Amino acid sequence: MRKQVIAGNWKMNKTHTEANEFVQATKHEVPSASEVESIVCAPFPFLQKMVEETNGSSLKVGAQNMHFEESGAFTGEVSPVMLKELGVTYVVLGHSERREIFEETDEVVNKKVHAAFNHGLTPIVCVGETLEQREADQTMDHVESQVKKALEGLTVEQIADTIIAYEPIWAIGTGRTATSEQANEVCTHIRKVVGEFANTEAAEAVRIQYGGSVKPANVDELLSQSDIDGALVGGASLEADSFLKLVEAGK
Ligand code: 13P
Repeated sequence: MRKQVIAGNWKMNKTHTEANEFVQATKHEVPSASEVESIVCAPFPFLQKMVEETNGSSLKVGAQNMHFEESGAFTGEVSPVMLKELGVTYVVLGHSERREIFEETDEVVNKKVHAAFNHGLTPIVCVGETLEQREADQTMDHVESQVKKALEGLTVEQIADTIIAYEPIWAIGTGRTATSEQANEVCTHIRKVVGEFANTEAAEAVRIQYGGSVKPANVDELLSQSDIDGALVGGASLEADSFLKLVEAGK
């Protein structure tokens, strides 16, 4: 059985004070890490304090992006070495906002995934189609291509340890969730692609999250689907009460 992984993606939200309030309200309330993986992916300036404050709790801390190089003349960037040293354990890579607004390519995402594994960070790799692609019936091909390019060159063990987040772009922040059947159909396809690309064991082990307007009211139905192993949640992860309901659903 795959353990569910529920990750909040705060995006560019909250102040340091608000981040700390959230951590104080949730760190003793999240279910045991043996039941569900509970993660908050926060802006860089909050990470150190959040890691310190969650020490010993089942609440884990992730970053939302990083550069693939270890150090150097990359003004404004943050390296995997820096994240690892802070005690960060997960990193969201290739989010559609990074791909669309900051023009990250599949090649860059692939380099970042390698860098994450080289530094002991678990990547949460995001894939997903636009509304135009869905309407043109290109969803499966597009997502398949993104998955293969992101995983290129990894070992089978690394692929098995990757978390893939299927986030249809038209469902992000729109209140328009994919139906659980639509979401599961793509997640099933992703698992098949991983099976062909790596092997059956990796396909059985890899965790595939759904993301896009997940909230307490629809999370149970989404998580009950055969190939959905968790959720990557934006808006509904910002409030402690709502986040706690989501991780509870992952048990
Ligand atoms: P929302 O949950 O706000 O739709 O955002 C989804 C998302 O992009 C998570 O990474």
